[in-house]
Amino acid sequence: MTVKLFDNSSILEFDATVVSCEKNKKEYDIILDKSAFFPEGGGQPGDSGYIENARISDTKEIKTDEGLVVLHKSDKPIEVGSNVHCRIDEETRLRRMQNHSGEHLLTGIIHGKYGYTNVGFHIGSADTTLDLDGTPTDQQLAECEFIANKAISEDKSITITYPDSETLKNLDYRSKLDLTENVRIVTIDGYDVCACCAPHVSSTGKIGMVKVISHESYKGGTRIHMLCGLDALDDYNKKLANVKAISSALSAKPEKIADAVAKLQEEVANLRKFANEINQQKANEIIESLKKEGEFKNKCVFANSLDRKQLTDIANAGAELAGGIFAIVCGEGENYNYVISSKSVNLRDKSKEINSALGGKGGGSNTMIQGSFNASRQAISSFLENFGG
Ligand SMILES: [Zn+2]
Repeated sequence: MTVKLFDNSSILEFDATVVSCEKNKKEYDIILDKSAFFPEGGGQPGDSGYIENARISDTKEIKTDEGLVVLHKSDKPIEVGSNVHCRIDEETRLRRMQNHSGEHLLTGIIHGKYGYTNVGFHIGSADTTLDLDGTPTDQQLAECEFIANKAISEDKSITITYPDSETLKNLDYRSKLDLTENVRIVTIDGYDVCACCAPHVSSTGKIGMVKVISHESYKGGTRIHMLCGLDALDDYNKKLANVKAISSALSAKPEKIADAVAKLQEEVANLRKFANEINQQKANEIIESLKKEGEFKNKCVFANSLDRKQLTDIANAGAELAGGIFAIVCGEGENYNYVISSKSVNLRDKSKEINSALGGKGGGSNTMIQGSFNASRQAISSFLENFGG
């Protein structure tokens, strides 16, 4: 059984004796007589750090006959019986404690004000998620977030206790367990009382900040994505860099970028409308000139950037005049889109032959096929104009 030093979250360096070292796949499971490394639990990942110069990537807890044992996942073997100096990754631990204590604080406030209960919690690499059994409004969440940050400025104490069974019976706390003894209670003075096994910061000031990033419906309740402390600062900096880049690209003040994007979208819509009007005019001109020129056997007409409906309209007009096939083709270089129409040739039967001659893809009905060609303008023109001999 490992003596647990991690109950005291301020212990980040300690000396211990190696009790066992066993190879497990590519790593070694190290057991010490005592440990301040927190083994994964309560939604918080296991600590990383060093035992002497061996890298500890993770820490887990396993149940044995003698009690709970902490396994340190090491990249190197360490001699059993040796006395070792151990160091926990301080910043990683701090960030996790900030997120975890921040989550207790926010949940305690939400629970106190609106009665919702936390039914899930996870500290991930991207953010911390907290699941509620109800659906608070945006305004309620913003209000609770504000109160949480006020509590941070008040620097309230966060204490760990193991109340006796009598005290526990009468204690109003979250995550009420069936256990009657050895229940670890984390109390945020004036804001929250909750059973939890993980390390926490010693006062709310050390959380730094609680920020709700987003929330969504989840299993009939709400999943809140949140970040605290240094993780919240990193997120702010990432988002600020984005805002600055957009602000500079749009020549708009940072607080006006949403307006600038809306204006840009309007301009794009107007330009699209204008381009479509020009294309429609072009399509009409093509149809007029086809009618003026009169009947033909095969014909292939090239045009630029017409939309699907304009191409179909031209193809329908062309089919009326074609003894063989009519093709309208759009594009440049070796990449073209086509619509081919006919009233006399069964195009569904011929589509394979046409596509394979011009590196194409596509298909359609007996009277009209569409798709793309991968061939030169000249090759397309000469094949289609001479189609069927
Ligand atoms: Zn907890």
